[in-house]
Amino acid sequence: MYQTTINKKIVCSGIGLHSGKLVELKLLPGDEDSGIVFQVHGKDGVKRLSPKPCSVVATGLATTLGVDGASVATVEHLLAALRGMEIDNILIEIKGGEVPIMDGSAASFVLLIKSAGIRRQRAPRKVAKIIRPLSIEHEGKWIKASPYNGFRVNYTIDFPHPAIGVQNMDIEITPQSFMDIIAKARTFGFLKEVEYLNKHGLALGGSLDNAVVLDDYKVLNEGGLRFPDEFVRHKILDFIGDMAMLGLPLHGSFEVHCSGHGLNNAFLRRLEENSELYLDIVTSRTPELANNSSALEIEPEMIGQAV
Ligand SMILES: [Zn+2]
Repeated sequence: MYQTTINKKIVCSGIGLHSGKLVELKLLPGDEDSGIVFQVHGKDGVKRLSPKPCSVVATGLATTLGVDGASVATVEHLLAALRGMEIDNILIEIKGGEVPIMDGSAASFVLLIKSAGIRRQRAPRKVAKIIRPLSIEHEGKWIKASPYNGFRVNYTIDFPHPAIGVQNMDIEITPQSFMDIIAKARTFGFLKEVEYLNKHGLALGGSLDNAVVLDDYKVLNEGGLRFPDEFVRHKILDFIGDMAMLGLPLHGSFEVHCSGHGLNNAFLRRLEENSELYLDIVTSRTPELANNSSALEIEPEMIGQAV
């Protein structure tokens, strides 16, 4: 298993969820061992920042990364697409302070990665493996992690809403399952909250074009849902993006109950603070990882088209 990056630069623009303005996103191939790096054009010039659990400065409306006065918002769906597609190294240039919300899912980012193509690099992939059970619980929400060869999520949501209710999905995340089952699931919000946010100058880019919006009884989007369980699928998408904040692919099995960005980040901080107890950093040369079933096992020349 080797590290990967994208084949060529790719540019797109879209509406920012926070600002409601057009923002630009550029994805560029990254060097081996460089990881995922954001390059932000701010008032103080250009700054680079990498996902780290302690760099998450806000989890309210969406996940915001911030370091030394530079910040980039709404990073979680792009990060989910990168992890879901097993991209190790990439440079992400942002103009406008946030990643465009696109259609509220990770589908557009998957499409961008596919059209750029995926290139295998020479360095072996590094993975952070959970080696001991760890759980976190807060007000009836929890995450329980245990060792596993791959990334598996068993996620349950329970919203007291007639259109949502209890939904559960147990899934092994591989590039294929991510593309087929998770990537297209959109973010969701409640009309009351959207109205409140707009009144306070927040979520100015939020609309029925980039979120599933519900009133007290039903889904308001004209086309309805993309999947009957789109809500739990999107929560898994968010979970994948939030776990990407560790900075390395994470291997483990996760039982998640009603979590959100805040608890996901608290879990990751605990994991990192006690990394010597719970994590082992292994490279693909380590025999243990050779049996990994989630690997993108395709020939180098196939990589660009196989996804
Ligand atoms: Zn989301």
